[in-house]
Amino acid sequence: MTTYTYTKSQALFQRAAKVIPCGIYGHFSPVCLCPPTDYPFYISRAKGARFWDIDGNEFIDYMCAYGPMILGYQNEIIDNAAKNQSELSDCVTGPAPVMVELAEYLVDLIPIADWAYFAKNGGDVTSLSLMVARDATHKKKIVLIKGGYHGVAPWAQTSLHHGTIEEDHEHIIRIPWNDIQAFEVAIERYPNDIAAFMATPYHHPVYADNEMPNENYWQTIEALCQKHNIMLIVDDVRCGFRLDIKGSHEYFKFQPDMICFSKAIGNGYPISALVGTESLKKSVANVFYTGTYWFSAVAMAASLAVLQEMKKIDATSMMIEKGRQLTRGLVDIAKTYGFDLKVSGSLSMPYIRITNDDTQMLHQAWCAECTKRGAYFTPHHNWFISTAHTDMDIQQTLDIANEAFQAVNANY
Ligand code: PMP
Repeated sequence: MTTYTYTKSQALFQRAAKVIPCGIYGHFSPVCLCPPTDYPFYISRAKGARFWDIDGNEFIDYMCAYGPMILGYQNEIIDNAAKNQSELSDCVTGPAPVMVELAEYLVDLIPIADWAYFAKNGGDVTSLSLMVARDATHKKKIVLIKGGYHGVAPWAQTSLHHGTIEEDHEHIIRIPWNDIQAFEVAIERYPNDIAAFMATPYHHPVYADNEMPNENYWQTIEALCQKHNIMLIVDDVRCGFRLDIKGSHEYFKFQPDMICFSKAIGNGYPISALVGTESLKKSVANVFYTGTYWFSAVAMAASLAVLQEMKKIDATSMMIEKGRQLTRGLVDIAKTYGFDLKVSGSLSMPYIRITNDDTQMLHQAWCAECTKRGAYFTPHHNWFISTAHTDMDIQQTLDIANEAFQAVNANY
């Protein structure tokens, strides 16, 4: 296999750096890729589970746009639903009827949901859920998990980040994942002041193995929340629909008060949703929260089609099975070179790490060697599987991985 070069990507990045801060900012920034010279920066088109960069290189995409792509790029069913709505209306002076249909569908689909509220990004609804919890409980403090990610609002960042001030974190308490005792200590310390406990369904930090909840973790958290009138919020922005179509709390068998969705709910069309229980409907109505594009009907029509299609094809089981096929194959190939590949998190969005080297440099090198041959892997973040990944994609990925192991083995 010849390895890719990225002459056009790199030239465009130089141009970008003159007019765009960091050239590419945020989670797509090349600083997250190691070494950045082994990765494409600009994408010209995408179809199914693949994308093509501006140098003409073809990739099997295991990041799925960092989660939104779940049914394949340019999925005809979803794009037709969006096109049909766009021929009627999109961003007008009031909402389209599809907004009600989407809310009804979510309320039917998600067992705890009695209402749905729509926005654009995951961070819009994680922030909204905290305002709702504070309004409902008349309390201030929020308990989060250390290393958990909920967006870029000042409260969600760490106190070290530029542009945030100490006061942004005044009412945020961070406790370790899977640590019930730490939650009990927080409750004891602030007996009447904790409005909400927010966490992802399982712990999926960057640069670290992902961790499932211990047995009875969620059930104990739920009981403590109920006892102390603390709103239990699941941030399902990343895991949503990749563990259970009805919400990840169904997979782990507990009952939150609110759930935040985004990413996969639109298959790339920009939309997020907060859903919650009847008792919080008054509070969510009290809170003033809106945005210029939040009523865009096209994304709502796309989202409705995404939910219907995922249910019809049992997308979640498909992705878990494809993830099993991929990770099994990778682990077996790694073994033949004497490497130990550790897989953590859900098989539909696995975090993979070569354990032979504590510095992670070997793992970074292997991910880069795979990417240069057409299997786009990041070393620091969980990957994503979609229903569009075919058996052929997975076989080709395993062939690429094999060659990449040969390449890193030669230098290890
Ligand atoms: N919560 C989780 C668990 C996420 O993974 C993300 C995005 N990576 C967010 C919230 C924030 O979503 P957004 O970037 O759409 O605001």
